[in-house]
Amino acid sequence: MINKCFEVRVLTLFPEMFPGPLSYSLAGKASEKNIWSLKTVNIRDYATDKHKTVDDEPYGGGPGMVMRPDILGKAFDKNNPNSKWKKIILTPRGKPLTQKMVKDISSKPGAVIVCGRYEGIDERFISSRSLEEVSIGDYVLSGGEPAALILIDSIVRLLSGTIGSSDSLIEESFENNLLEHPHYTRPYEWEGMKPPAVLLSGNHREIEKWRKNIALEDTKKRRPELLISEKK
Ligand code: SAM
Repeated sequence: MINKCFEVRVLTLFPEMFPGPLSYSLAGKASEKNIWSLKTVNIRDYATDKHKTVDDEPYGGGPGMVMRPDILGKAFDKNNPNSKWKKIILTPRGKPLTQKMVKDISSKPGAVIVCGRYEGIDERFISSRSLEEVSIGDYVLSGGEPAALILIDSIVRLLSGTIGSSDSLIEESFENNLLEHPHYTRPYEWEGMKPPAVLLSGNHREIEKWRKNIALEDTKKRRPELLISEKK
């Protein structure tokens, strides 16, 4: 089956930051295979004054500068190709990114991703374009670009053809709200430690059972809220 190329359009003040790490390893190879493609849009190209200004002081005062809605609006409208695409803006207050959200985005034909800078983005731009706000965690980055790289990487690895064996995806962390089981490889003995005997038993049913149990125990210990959210 031939899949359509997943298209990503990133609106940024720093297009030179892309594709950066996305040109390596799985994402890099997937891009060479045309599984996904990236276009960056320099927001500054839509500024109208001779200094190419994209920000201004916040109404009401306070520190920092705010990205102007008129410039962002124009950049977005000229590069918003399809109503079926996901329209995302990266903000610390956005919905925390989860594997479920990544799956949903990867099922679309493409995504427009807007990266903020400075103190933030004029609220009117966010609300008028019905953008979904996404956060990559409860901490503040200096710009949306590193968040966009993380988001794109997580999307690309779910696209059909990026990862050799689709089994790797089925057993991964956050599938069924569980963390993944631990892994072991050669050497058999390292610093006095050996892998659990069951993994060398050749009994696939027992191995499966052990992995499921340990994944559940690990999740209870490390991330109990994942199990609670499954019950909801
Ligand atoms: N003043 C803002 C606040 O307190 O929420 C922080 C602005 S931050 C310095 C500049 C830009 O970085 C944001 O507009 C956003 O695009 C991006 N950013 C920062 N932290 C982020 C996070 N955790 N997730 C997604 N984007 C983030």
